Amino acid sequence: MRRLFILTSILLFSAVLACSQLRQRTVAITIDDLPVVSTRRDIENRREITKKLLAHIKKAKVPAIGFVNENKLYAGDQRDEKQIDLLRMWLDSGLELGNHTYSHRSLNTIPLSDYQADLLKGEVITRELLARKKKTLRYFRHPYLQTGRSLEVKQQFDAFLANHGYTIAPISIDNADYIFSAAYDKAFDKKDLELMKRVGEAYVPYMESKLDYWERQSTKLFGREISQTLLIHANFINSDYFDDLAAMFRKRGYRFVTLEEALKDDAYRLPDTYVGPAGISWIHRWALAKGREWVLLDEPKVPDFVLKASGFESE
Ligand SMILES: [Zn+2]
Repeated sequence: MRRLFILTSILLFSAVLACSQLRQRTVAITIDDLPVVSTRRDIENRREITKKLLAHIKKAKVPAIGFVNENKLYAGDQRDEKQIDLLRMWLDSGLELGNHTYSHRSLNTIPLSDYQADLLKGEVITRELLARKKKTLRYFRHPYLQTGRSLEVKQQFDAFLANHGYTIAPISIDNADYIFSAAYDKAFDKKDLELMKRVGEAYVPYMESKLDYWERQSTKLFGREISQTLLIHANFINSDYFDDLAAMFRKRGYRFVTLEEALKDDAYRLPDTYVGPAGISWIHRWALAKGREWVLLDEPKVPDFVLKASGFESE
């Protein structure tokens, strides 16, 4: 009996050891500003961007979630079924959708009551589409990641979200894919194919340097890498480069998980008490709560030529 106990213990110990060695990095991929954010506003181009992006996502087997701005689903005050069809493509690919407000305003600059009204206005069509797939609307993403300038506002908004069945969708891997995309869009509009190529080729290496930063920042703060949450946008550059982006994650040993799965990591139970003006990663929020010295200072920057081509003055 005793021998059996020892044998079982050894087997159990080896199994645990094997599991911990096999423990993979995980990331949830969240995609904002659906159906599309691009200077290419005509429906044919938006359909093309959506189709390409979804094909990449499907091929890489990524259980992504898309966050919708419903103001893009109307022409004047009429529902625009062609735009809504783009969201149906997401759902038909088996992906989840979340709420990103109707008109993408910041909680830092408008009254809470207006913000909440804009959130509710932004859930009508998405709720309806999800219901047809027997799914529910459960995640909310703050536009600009700006989450309010006082703890009172944050607490009131938390209660509002809970009342409406929403969970906040935090992000850990902050980056400026939107700057690359603006540069890519502008180069396309000017028919500058060479610049497009340069911007495109700089994109995934930049994202890898960011990922490396957030892995190190995570280890500094938690002594381990947490289950990461990436924010990117439903834009032109991702419709061309998502394949390469997914390959880069896989090369670094990542497994793609749902947002629900990623948020099971205990790190996400930490409170967010940040009330500063910026829209920042939740890892930085938690680090700042502990003290400035917990923030790693070598966060990679967008290359100058990309920033210049984007028209943005700064990141
Ligand atoms: Zn957004």
